[in-house]
Amino acid sequence: MWADLELDGLDVLVVGSAQGTRRVRARVEHAGGRVMLVGAAQALELLSASDRAVGLVVWVEGPESARAEGRALARIRRLPVTCAPAATTTGTVTLVGGGPGRTDLLTLAGQAALADADVVLFDRLGPQESLADLAPGARLIDVGKAPGHHPIPQPEIEAMLIEHARAGAHVVRLKGGDPFVFGRGSEEVRACARAGVPVTVVPGVSSAIAVPGAAGIPVTHRGLSRSLTIVSGHVPFEPQEYAHLHGVGGTLVILMGVNTLIQVCTGLLRAGMPPDVPLALVERGFLPGQRTTVTTVAEVVRRGGMQHATSPAVVVIGAVVALAESSVWEDLARTVEGAA
Ligand code: SAH
Repeated sequence: MWADLELDGLDVLVVGSAQGTRRVRARVEHAGGRVMLVGAAQALELLSASDRAVGLVVWVEGPESARAEGRALARIRRLPVTCAPAATTTGTVTLVGGGPGRTDLLTLAGQAALADADVVLFDRLGPQESLADLAPGARLIDVGKAPGHHPIPQPEIEAMLIEHARAGAHVVRLKGGDPFVFGRGSEEVRACARAGVPVTVVPGVSSAIAVPGAAGIPVTHRGLSRSLTIVSGHVPFEPQEYAHLHGVGGTLVILMGVNTLIQVCTGLLRAGMPPDVPLALVERGFLPGQRTTVTTVAEVVRRGGMQHATSPAVVVIGAVVALAESSVWEDLARTVEGAA
């Protein structure tokens, strides 16, 4: 696509209105080109006069007849011409689940939304590295960090979404993982709906399932675990909750669980969980420096936590953790198959 072209120093004739061509112009500039914004009539004049050096013509708006004439003139001058859709002016918000942080784990729908964005509000956990390429026409706003490294409060993020959408922008709210798994996505949807701003949601790959997988831990395994419970560990649980969590059996996945890990393990043991149940901490899943530590629930308590644990990390508790070592995986798979 022409958006991938290197346009360094090239004059690019962009045909249409300032509003309708805003995304195309941002792309041209991102690719290093110099924009010449003109209306259809002026474009035809320029293309008829042979003294103007133009490297590429991008036709966005204008009557069909002028477009055809423009093409014919460009052909005579051996100039490449392409068409691009006009940017809409209806303000909308798209919540995009960005996955656990690696760009290629973003969905195609997520990429399409970013390519069409005027404004992107992103934070710490989503893919950040190639945002300028994924959303060349957008203003990128980091809402995960403010100057003092304090995250922008949720009501302010919601106000920003609404404000930019009301100004006519396509606002993409890029979130880590899936927007509806401990991501406050539902609050943002509600805020937009209440403000009368149309909002759509693109799901994402959730770290709750994908990050254990990145460490070789399947969250379910026939004969070993037939349920998956995903909890937030940002505050410890009540005694009856530990009893439930242990009672369900299967696999327990804890997000935001680094700081409360000792309390949670202590609570689970008190509720009757056997001390040797394996536990894995998977830090920075799919990111540089991904690290897996395998231990047991009792060992975490005995050692007073996992000293070097850093966020973001997913905690997995249950028999499936043993599958993290591939030799065990093969043995277990054979046992399970034999038993079936
Ligand atoms: N909506 C997100 C979760 C948001 S809560 C999702 O579906 O994945 C934030 C927590 O997600 C972090 O504290 C951590 O527990 C987990 N997390 C997100 N990305 C991660 C990653 N790349 N590696 C490990 N844990 C991650």
